[in-house]
Amino acid sequence: MQYIAPLAKLIEHFRALPGIGSKTAVRLAYHVLDMDANQAKALASAIIEAKEKIGYCNVCFNLSDRSPCQICAAESRDHTVICVVEQPQDVAAMERMRDFRGVYHVLHGALSPLEGVGPEDLRIKELLGRLSGTKTEEVIVATNPNVEGEATAMYLARLLKPLGVKVTRIAHGLPIGSDLEYADEVTLSKAMENRREME
Ligand SMILES: [Zn+2]
Repeated sequence: MQYIAPLAKLIEHFRALPGIGSKTAVRLAYHVLDMDANQAKALASAIIEAKEKIGYCNVCFNLSDRSPCQICAAESRDHTVICVVEQPQDVAAMERMRDFRGVYHVLHGALSPLEGVGPEDLRIKELLGRLSGTKTEEVIVATNPNVEGEATAMYLARLLKPLGVKVTRIAHGLPIGSDLEYADEVTLSKAMENRREME
């Protein structure tokens, strides 16, 4: 079916989003057309505002509207314990748990030779920079429990242990192949509690 040009364009943009198939893209586009003008404007400006105001914290590389972010700037947090995660969504999941009082480091991915993701594509250099700058007692590797996440954890352990830092890995309470992001608070809390030192 041929859609009129502005509608086709809108559908195309929705379809490019993760988890949105063709049918959903069409439904969303029609939904937008059904909105009144103010609603549609509010949606569009929320997208623009989020893009304009949110960037990366230059310490932990989490998404933030300021740098250093609220967590990195907080004196109440334990800055000697750094929890390494793959994505900003993982920080949000960990914060929902409320038990963790340390700070974070977001890698922005995991090692994946198949997809051509190497150490230089992740924020590993920046993590090393943090370790040389401040006193760090423990690095908790909380990458996802899948092949890429495990490979990344092993790589980090080999890299960091010679620096005299304790490197721990969250426990396998999380289902294998799952995403940290979708873990419930109890599972995540247990996985953190039962973390073990990496060999
Ligand atoms: Zn930060």
